[in-house]
Amino acid sequence: MDKGKWAEKNDAEWRKILTLEQYQVLRGKGTEAPFSGKYVHTKDKGMYQCAACGAELFSSDTKFDSGTGWPSFTEPANREHIDLRADDSSGLTRVEVACKYCGSHLGHVFGDGPKERGGKRYCINSCALKLKKK
Ligand code: FE
Repeated sequence: MDKGKWAEKNDAEWRKILTLEQYQVLRGKGTEAPFSGKYVHTKDKGMYQCAACGAELFSSDTKFDSGTGWPSFTEPANREHIDLRADDSSGLTRVEVACKYCGSHLGHVFGDGPKERGGKRYCINSCALKLKKK
């Protein structure tokens, strides 16, 4: 994928491409309300892509029901497609998950995922994802 064309987008362009909710989450590092997103309970098979740029982020095979109200995954489909960044914004030390191609905020990763599957919980906003069904 071409990283360049996404890095050049300015704020006005992002506002045109994204819905208001997506803009607030992806570009403003917001969080959608729990249980409000369209993929919370989705069990369809396929690849979850970045809603902004289409990068392949999470496979449905790694999705699990965390009970938190956000789509949750045990691991990224391709580690090269995501950026992990330290985030101290809420007074907690968390690890932010962002799309490596377009820089959009996706969610956070926590260490309380299923132990038998690596122990990670990638907690991702539904509105940051687009499911390409198999
Ligand atoms: Fe992206």
